[in-house]
Amino acid sequence: MDNCIFCAIAEHKIPSEIVYEDNLVVAFKDVKPIAPTHLLIIPKEHFKDFLEFSQSPKRAEISEALMHAVNTICEEQGIESFHLLNNCGEAHGQSVFHLHFHLISGVDLTKHIKF
Ligand code: 5GP
Ligand code: ZN
Repeated sequence: MDNCIFCAIAEHKIPSEIVYEDNLVVAFKDVKPIAPTHLLIIPKEHFKDFLEFSQSPKRAEISEALMHAVNTICEEQGIESFHLLNNCGEAHGQSVFHLHFHLISGVDLTKHIKF
């Protein structure tokens, strides 16, 4: 999609520190990390948010690829404990409207949020 920064990253049109890539998914370092490990995992295909993605006929195939990416990254980087976070919608902090999951490790966010 035009004017989408994450589509541009997925298409290698703008630079990013990619840590994982396959035919469906890319993972790269967040430009403003909030933890020692702060990665963004995205489908290459553009979905504006989790709800749009969850209605797609491709959701099963891409969900599997997203999970495989998390597993591979954790194995490669020796990560055993982490947060996997999606902000869906502007009212809940989403600022880039291409579906992404934050993989955050090295800071326990539950120490800062009361559930
Ligand atoms: P959101 O607030 O939508 O859940 O998260 C968007 C994330 O994307 C933020 O953590 C922000 O730092 C990151 N981000 C925004 N623009 C870029 C960029 O151009 N490159 C990279 N690597 N991360 C970005
Ligand atoms: Zn996009």
